[in-house]
Amino acid sequence: MNFDKSFVKKVLYLMEKEARKRKAPVFRKELIIENDPFKIFILAFLSSRTKDETTVKVCKRLFKRVSNFKDILSLSQKEIEKLIYGVGFYRQKAKNLKKTAEIIVKRYSGNLPNQLEELVKLPGVGNKIAKVILAEAYRKPFIAVDVHVHRISNRLGIVKTKTPSETDRVLDKIIPEELKRKYNKIFVAFGQTVCKPKRPLCNECPLKNLCPKIGI
Ligand code: SF4
Repeated sequence: MNFDKSFVKKVLYLMEKEARKRKAPVFRKELIIENDPFKIFILAFLSSRTKDETTVKVCKRLFKRVSNFKDILSLSQKEIEKLIYGVGFYRQKAKNLKKTAEIIVKRYSGNLPNQLEELVKLPGVGNKIAKVILAEAYRKPFIAVDVHVHRISNRLGIVKTKTPSETDRVLDKIIPEELKRKYNKIFVAFGQTVCKPKRPLCNECPLKNLCPKIGI
């Protein structure tokens, strides 16, 4: 494993710089969340199986009508479906969103919980979404591992793992707390723009002299 703290720190810095220069779609989310846990939750919740461009477009439409979980609860499921139309599995997500809003309003007085164990009990909220919310809304040291994080961490030799859940366990152990929070977003941004799943742009990559290019 190619792990040492300064290597990861350097890699994160170079990746973020390059992905921002290339205007990675994931960074568009930053423009509409305003550090609001409700908006961060909705973006994370709607983004599974959906392109970031679409999630952002749908969220802009939704946020014109709602600004908290009480507002969601006041809408019918059909109204929610209409508002979030365009994201993957919109009917199922509308159903889960309505149930989630009900739980949050009744059990948590309308405030999004800030503990992993509480978040994963909400309908439609898995480990990955919960960790994105904790890292971005509450600035807690969690890494949400998705396909980009899994793929690039292996190509760089930071881990040597077969599945995202294995990567999740290893990264949680080896990455220092202060580097965890930004890890997901930067790896996703870099995966969207440079270290793509097929045909990564190694010749244009700012890491080409540092990266062992494992599996390429
Ligand atoms: S050199 Fe290639 S494999 Fe390594 S991080 Fe860059 S794009 Fe990915």
